Amino acid sequence: MQPKDIPAICPTCHRPVESGWYFCPNCGTKLQEAPLPTGPAAQIKLYASSIVLPMILFLFVTRWQGLKYARSHDPKARRMGVIAWILIVLSTVATVYLAYVWTEAAIQSQIQAINTDLSGL
Ligand SMILES: [Zn+2]
Repeated sequence: MQPKDIPAICPTCHRPVESGWYFCPNCGTKLQEAPLPTGPAAQIKLYASSIVLPMILFLFVTRWQGLKYARSHDPKARRMGVIAWILIVLSTVATVYLAYVWTEAAIQSQIQAINTDLSGL
């Protein structure tokens, strides 16, 4: 069994290769694209970084001033800083909670799909 787009010989060094190989063991030429990992760990990593990354970028780009305000000697500025801290903590908790819930749902649907495949055998 050999997919038609994968050559039986390496296009670079012309040594024989097998259809399941991603690289030629002789010269290192890429023979086909390696499949992207789709398991639960890969999903958690991708989804969590998709949610957390914009938040980190937001803090970086805006150079969030909450810490500076919270340390201020002016009571009004300090209150602003405390409110900003509360908002960012609530936002982080909500983000982590949603990341957990959505990842859990993605894992459950993955398990469901695997179980459905196995019961079809
Ligand atoms: Zn080769």
